[in-house]
Amino acid sequence: MVFILAIIVMFNIPIEEKKYGLTQSGLTTDYTGLLPEHVDQVTKTTNRQDLQKIVKQANAEGKHISIAGLQHSQGGHTYYKDGIVIDMRTFNKILEVNEKEKTVRVEAGATWEDVQKAIQPYGLALKVTQSQSIFTIGGSLSVNAHGRDIRFGPMSSTVKELTLLTPQGEIKTITNKDPNIHYVLGGYGLFGVILDVTLVLTDNEVYTIHTKNIKTSEYESHFTKVLNNPDIAMNYARVSVAPSSFLNDMVVIDYYKTGKMDHVTKLKGEDFVHLTKYSLDIGRKGGLLEDLFWKTQNFYLNQLDGSKITRNNVMRSESTFMEFNNPEKVEVLQEFFVPISEFDEYIEDLKKLLPANDAKEDFKIHNITIRFAAKDNTTTLNYAKEDMLGLVILIQHGLQERDIEHAKDMIQKWTNLTLEHGGTYYLPYYRYQTKTQFKESYPNWKKFKEKKKKQDPNEVFVNNFYQNYFK
Ligand SMILES: Cc1cc2nc3c(=O)[nH]c(=O)nc-3n(C[C@H](O)[C@H](O)[C@H](O)COP(=O)(O)OP(=O)(O)OC[C@H]3O[C@@H](n4cnc5c(N)ncnc54)[C@H](O)[C@@H]3O)c2cc1C
Repeated sequence: MVFILAIIVMFNIPIEEKKYGLTQSGLTTDYTGLLPEHVDQVTKTTNRQDLQKIVKQANAEGKHISIAGLQHSQGGHTYYKDGIVIDMRTFNKILEVNEKEKTVRVEAGATWEDVQKAIQPYGLALKVTQSQSIFTIGGSLSVNAHGRDIRFGPMSSTVKELTLLTPQGEIKTITNKDPNIHYVLGGYGLFGVILDVTLVLTDNEVYTIHTKNIKTSEYESHFTKVLNNPDIAMNYARVSVAPSSFLNDMVVIDYYKTGKMDHVTKLKGEDFVHLTKYSLDIGRKGGLLEDLFWKTQNFYLNQLDGSKITRNNVMRSESTFMEFNNPEKVEVLQEFFVPISEFDEYIEDLKKLLPANDAKEDFKIHNITIRFAAKDNTTTLNYAKEDMLGLVILIQHGLQERDIEHAKDMIQKWTNLTLEHGGTYYLPYYRYQTKTQFKESYPNWKKFKEKKKKQDPNEVFVNNFYQNYFK
């Protein structure tokens, strides 16, 4: 009885959400809180003319503006010392769903959640989005995000046109034929404010989930088959970071087309949040407990085998279970991309770099998932010059200076290894990497900088990401 009561109480304790964000009185942070900064002004309006006025004034008076969506980027991308921050969350209207053309026009501060709610009744779904629906459209397009889709190319290629507030305060329509779009998309808010976007959609198809346990050495050939199989629409994989199967075992999850379309299935909420949160918390301890976490994850994923899911529901994975509030530690994401043909060798080299059992280490890896990042011809700061596999890594480390330095050292070594395999790293996250590693990963950085100088000579739009890599 006491046990049952304890379980009921435990499962009803609200999960504490991380506190972060914009403030004029205290220090502004993004999701990790690693780079607190004073900002002069946070602007929140629903009026485009107000925004125009602020931008024109900043351009005339030499002031600096940053743009913030939901601030899930992790390297000060949404603010700048003593600058103005435009909080885009009030620009969240769905302007038009065109069922016939299969498009949606939406303000850039809306989230994928808002868009999914609007398009689901029409039997429509997004072509490309992150695994979770918690991000803003503007923030997602400005990093050119990717997720589980393997058929529709990079997110940037799903944009038909957008409305941009330029550094001079003009409002312009930029179509996908306009060469300027290559700088705005994946442009980290440095070429103006995206006010609204027209996205091309697809059908909300029903898929059958297939899960399979394989060895990492088999993944390259498995994924090549997936890519060549037109019956598979989406895919991702989880790699073991548990000591007894570290970087050897993995679960692949493939989504097979059923040919059935759906406009009635409800958008799913977060399932089993407490259970997934407590399992992750156990895994966070490392060592044998990480083995237990991996077994639980495996069990859960294999249970899904054969079940049906709509495209919209694949694109709205749980996120609350990741909340982490230990004041002495931080959890960060990193993502590394390698060409598909390099995957096997890359994993073998990683095994030499990373300890299989990190129970006693400060730098701990909790999770590795793998997604496809399709060859991208639409953005200048391009992380996929060819078809790549992205390894998304959830890392925890301490906040003492020596812990941060150690994390930097590990991640810089990891980045070098990635570069040796013809890969790159993802830019929305904390900047552990050196400027040299940035330049090697993004050889178009010079072109990006020159365009920035031309389009925004007074540096109206800046942020800590720009300051770190381009100054
Ligand atoms: C838990 C978690 C899971 C994630 N999963 C994925 C994933 O599956 N795939 C993936 O690709 N990424 C993933 N990311 C990274 C995420 O996609 C990016 O951080 C994204 O930018 C978050 O959107 P946001 O609304 O929080 O943007 P913000 O962090 O607010 O902004 C990001 C950048 O966009 C700029 N920006 C924002 N709005 C506008 C606008 N309207 N006009 C111009 N510029 C603007 C900002 O200035 C900033 O440079 C994940 C991040 C987290 C924390």
